[in-house]
Amino acid sequence: MFFYHLFFYFIHFSFLFDFPHRIPIKYTQHILFYSQFLHSIQWLSTALSTTCEQLYKRDHQNWGIHMLINTNHHQQFMLEAIKEAKIAESKNEVPIGAVVVWKNKIIGKGHNLRETSFDSTAHAEMIAIRQASDYLQAWRLLDCSLYVTLEPCAMCAGAIVLSRVEQVIYGASDPKAGCAGTLMNLLQEERFNHQTEVITGVMQEECSDLLKNFFRRLRK
Ligand SMILES: [Zn+2]
Repeated sequence: MFFYHLFFYFIHFSFLFDFPHRIPIKYTQHILFYSQFLHSIQWLSTALSTTCEQLYKRDHQNWGIHMLINTNHHQQFMLEAIKEAKIAESKNEVPIGAVVVWKNKIIGKGHNLRETSFDSTAHAEMIAIRQASDYLQAWRLLDCSLYVTLEPCAMCAGAIVLSRVEQVIYGASDPKAGCAGTLMNLLQEERFNHQTEVITGVMQEECSDLLKNFFRRLRK
């Protein structure tokens, strides 16, 4: 392409400085025609590739940004749930944390307190749901999303359905008690009068590492 440009500018400038009188007339006509032909080909290919590039960028960037916004949005709140899980860990509880989000605002937080409170129902989700209901002064958590580091159990899935939570986002799945898709899916059971949207795998590694490291330390 570089040599083409060199040739093109040479031809143009040579005409500008009245150079062609030194070249026999039959050659100048050919050269001029050839240079203009190449120029139009170049213009067409540039225009075509620019359009294609813009179209590609428009489609793919939009898709990328959309995904990015969503992922960042979920990660932001999952990080808050992880913070809760770490509080549980500091109390020698199994590190599980949850937050309830309403209109982009955290209105309920909870971490596992089973050992400290001698309460088998003191799961992170239950505590977060109670706090959110208290905030909204309603048992229906309409337009609320629940972020939890571990897949909800049967009891928590039941509470989520009963409180009409719109969306559940969980990090690690639970092969021994998960009732949001692993052992069964109570959140999307069609015979119930409410179904919840479920998003899985947000910061999955971070959430399961928390649990793995906790149990590893416990075994030592
Ligand atoms: Zn639970």
